[in-house]
This record gives sequence, structure tokens and C-alpha cells, in this order.
Amino acid sequence: MELMQIQHLSKVYGQGENQVRAVDDISFTVEKGEFLAIIGPSGSGKSTLLHILGGVDRPTSGKVFVDGQDVYAQNEDQLAIFRRRQVGLIYQFYNLIPVLNVVENMTLPVLMDGRQVNQERLEELLDVLLDVLGLRGREKHLPNQLSGGQQQRVSIGRALMNAPAVVLADEPTGNLDSKNSQEIVELLKMSNKKYGQTLVIITHDENIALQAHRVIAIEDGRITRDERIREVLE
Ligand code: ADP
Ligand code: MG
Repeated sequence: MELMQIQHLSKVYGQGENQVRAVDDISFTVEKGEFLAIIGPSGSGKSTLLHILGGVDRPTSGKVFVDGQDVYAQNEDQLAIFRRRQVGLIYQFYNLIPVLNVVENMTLPVLMDGRQVNQERLEELLDVLLDVLGLRGREKHLPNQLSGGQQQRVSIGRALMNAPAVVLADEPTGNLDSKNSQEIVELLKMSNKKYGQTLVIITHDENIALQAHRVIAIEDGRITRDERIREVLE
């Protein structure tokens, strides 16, 4: 089943001589439950593409559909709700709130969404996340009391808390050693497998790309390679 349809996306920054075509007529689809790796040289348009997929940055032209919804046909308020409920973003730097502890950082998006929180469901999810994340006993720790790898685990927990349609990660292991990198990838793969979580990761790390279902290579804002490595199991 197709979760995302990306149709003729382009993004142009600047004007006149300073104009940059960061994304240049990109089209592809992503299956539900797919783990897709995006690779390519620095400045090739990967982050711009990911932001457009996540409802963060409007395309100059083209369309993105997530679960049948035309993302950029929504007004700003609807788009903000789409971002909070349907998208989990993970960055190289963890962007945790320094004065909030592990649990508070993880639950912040749910609370910010202003929805009626089902406390039972929240506790259950938290239980699963804390066990898998290996942060049991550190629930009340502040970010500066955690290692980089632990902070990235918290940021992944935060991204998963809303059970988003898609998790988008921009070089999530770019700041970690190889042991922590692999553990972070295992965590994302677990969520991909266990919850059928659709996952798009930008990475420079070939070892990570080769663990994906599919690899798309981008150069100068265009897809130069789209290779299926393994099937997305139902
Ligand atoms: P990557 O993530 O592959 O390194 P980016 O998507 O960050 O590439 O950038 C693609 C191109 O778009 C680069 O030439 C970059 O300088 C340019 N670019 C990205 N964001 C902006 C922006 N906000 N304003 C102007 N140019 C930008
Ligand atoms: Mg980038």
C-alpha cells in the first residue's frame, strides 16, 4: 500500500543570479512500512526534500500526498496539525529542551497538540519506549545528564510518541560513534518492524543505507538512482 506520493517536486531558493534549484522535479512513492534511505553529496537537496515531505517547507511546485491527503492544499493551521500528528522528525542534533526531563521531552508533542491525552495509552507507550530505549531509571534525568546516544534515543522516543504516519530522520547518527549509530539504527528498525512505522533516513553511512528496504541517491536535486534492496514485508 502506498503511504506517500511525491509528484514533480521542485524547490527554488533565491532569485536571479543567486537562484538555487535545491530540488528539481523529483517524483517517487513510498510504501507503508517502508524503510527508505536517501543518500547523496552535501548540498544535493536531501534536507530540503525531507523538510518538504514533513510539511515543514513549502515546495515551489509539485505535490506531496500522505495517506491520500494533499499536504500543501491545507492552510497553515491544518499544516501545523499535520506536522504534529503525522510526522516524526529526527535531526543530527537532538534539540531536546534543556530544562525538561526525559519523560517531559518525550511527551511534549502530545501535550502541545492540545489533545485529550489518554493517560493509560500514554503510560503504556512510555513503558514500551523506556524499556526499548534503555532509559529505565533515567526518566527524570535532564538532557545534560545523558550521553549523546541517550539523548538521541529520547529524541526518537519523542518522534514516535504520536505514532506518526512517517518518521523522517536527517543524518540521525551523524554525531555519534559507530556503536551508538548502530544502536540508534536498530531502534528505528525495531519501530519500523514492530509498528510498521514508515521510515525515511538521510545518511552518509553506507552501512546504514544497506540495511534499508530501498536506497534513493540524489545529486543536484535530482534522483540518480532508486534501488530496491529488499521487499517490504507485510
Ligand atoms: P543537503 O541536505 O543534501 O546537504 P540541502 O537541501 O541542505 O542539501 O541544500 C540544497 C541546496 O539548497 C544547497 O545549495 C543549499 O545551499 C541550498 N539551500 C538550502 N536551504 C536554503 C535556504 N533556506 N535558502 C537558500 N538556499 C538554501
Ligand atoms: Mg542536509
